Parts: sequence; structure tokens; C-alpha cells
Amino acid sequence: MTCEHEFEYVGDQKAGQSSNRYFKCKLCGAVKVRSDNGTEYMIPAGEEKSNTNE
Ligand SMILES: [Zn+2]
Repeated sequence: MTCEHEFEYVGDQKAGQSSNRYFKCKLCGAVKVRSDNGTEYMIPAGEEKSNTNE
């Protein structure tokens, strides 16, 4: 499945001393997370409710 993600800012979430910014694709629902240090990762649509181990 191909999606030309069109991200929309949805909010911040504090993660310890830093905070993550969340963007959600308006087309497929995938979520992109960007941390303060510039690291980005994707959460595919439908998996955002699963637990993350940190
Ligand atoms: Zn998308």
C-alpha cells in the first residue's frame, strides 16, 4: 500500500525530560513521532494502541 503521507500536527507528549511531537497522516492514519533530538519514527496505522517498550 502506497500513501503519500500528508501529516497534520496533533500534539506533544512529554517523555521524561524531553517531549515528542506527534503528526498524523490525514490519508492513512499513520502516525509520525519526532523527538526533541530530531529522531523520527513511524507508527503504522492501526498499531498506535499497542504498547511501546522504552
Ligand atoms: Zn499516509
